Order: sequence, then C-alpha cells, then structure tokens
Amino acid sequence: MTIIDTHMHLGMSKFSGHRTTVETLNQYMERYGITHGMVMPQPTLDNIALIHDEIYQLTQHHSGRFYGMASIDPWLSEQEYEQEFRRCIETYQFVAVKLHPHGHNISPLASQCHKVYELADQFHVPVIIHTGLGSLNALPSLVIEPARTFPNVTFVLGHAGFAVFTSEAIVAAKTCENIVLEPSWCPTFSVQSMVNEVGIDRIIYGSDHVENIPVELAKYHSVLTDKQLEAVFSANPQRIFHLDLR
Ligand SMILES: [Zn+2]
Repeated sequence: MTIIDTHMHLGMSKFSGHRTTVETLNQYMERYGITHGMVMPQPTLDNIALIHDEIYQLTQHHSGRFYGMASIDPWLSEQEYEQEFRRCIETYQFVAVKLHPHGHNISPLASQCHKVYELADQFHVPVIIHTGLGSLNALPSLVIEPARTFPNVTFVLGHAGFAVFTSEAIVAAKTCENIVLEPSWCPTFSVQSMVNEVGIDRIIYGSDHVENIPVELAKYHSVLTDKQLEAVFSANPQRIFHLDLR
C-alpha cells in the first residue's frame, strides 16, 4: 500500500526542541510502512538555505522516496524571497511551500505574505499553512481571504486547527474549495467530522513528528474504509501536490 506522509521535517524546531535526522526519518518510515515522505525545515533560527540543501540531498540519495518542501521567511524582501523560492521550486523541484504564521510571526493576511501566494500561483505549488497551536496568527479562518484571492492555489491547513480550532478549520474548508485539511494532532472524532463535512477528497495524512506516525495512522484506520484510506494516504496527495510516484 502506498502511504505518503505529507508533513515531515528535517532538523530541530526552535519551539519544541524536537529534532529529526535523516536516520530517524528512514527508520520510522520503514518501521511503519510509509512509502513516501514530504519533508520541510522546522521553524528554526538555523540557516534555512542550508536545510533546503540537505532536503534536496535527501531527495537525491533516496530517489523517489522523498519530496522536498520549502519554508522561507516571508519577512525577507520580495527579491530575496523569490530567489530562494525559485532555487527550491525550479532548481530542486520541491513540491510545496510552507508558511508558518507562528514560526514566522506573521499573519497570513499580512501584505508580506502576498508574494508567497503569487509565486505559488505562478509555479502551481500548494501553500501549506501551519494552523492551531501558537499565536492568533495561526487561526484557520485567516486563510479564507487568501484562498478567495488566489482561487487557483491550493491551501493546506497544516494540523487542521490542531484539535482546539478544528471546527474553524472545517468552516474554512467548507467556505473555500481550494482549502485542504491535514489533521495531524487532531482527535479521531474530528477526522470523522472532516470526512463527513468537507469530504474525503480534501483530507491528507501527515505525521509532523516521526514518533507520531503510528498514532496518526491508527486514527485513520479506526474510522475510515479501505477506499477512504487509499484516498487520504495516496490518491489525494498525489493529485494535490502533482506527485509523479516512482
Ligand atoms: Zn510541522
């Protein structure tokens, strides 16, 4: 069975101190049958370009197993932001860009974030936005306006409101058809609500932490049919991130 984990990190989080290495990524993926991993940097104070380089190496050394995702500080000038964006998306063939309203300390409504959406629109890559935990900038409803302004961009709500704001994430997804939910850390009953209210086609699986992989998998196995599992684990991420599985 193909299982694509759409939310993995490399490096150390400046918030939690949680660290993921190439070794632990591979170990946990093998142990729990994750066939493909989508990897991005953590919110970090380290040099983000170097972490993008490491993620690129990962995609090259384990051909077909990993896909890269860029996470670039939206406070950079338009020129600096675009330069790193193009390096990741054009040169490294990364498949998505991340905006972290808590880690980057910025509202998705801020004018500085427009360049993120404009470039995502131009290069046909989804924008993953961290939601739920942290600051009020991470409220899921703040993604509604960008999603309306950029109807051709897919917006993935990372953590789908992180349990506490999951109802709001569901409202956002029901309001905008270009919003997709990735319910890592959400309760099992919330996953069922997302499927019932938003539909199985706009739910994707992500773990966030490698130690959380078996927990997340168990949630889906508990409430979904085999056909729904196939959608969440494989068909949906392939369609949404334009993945060409090898
Ligand atoms: Zn994360």
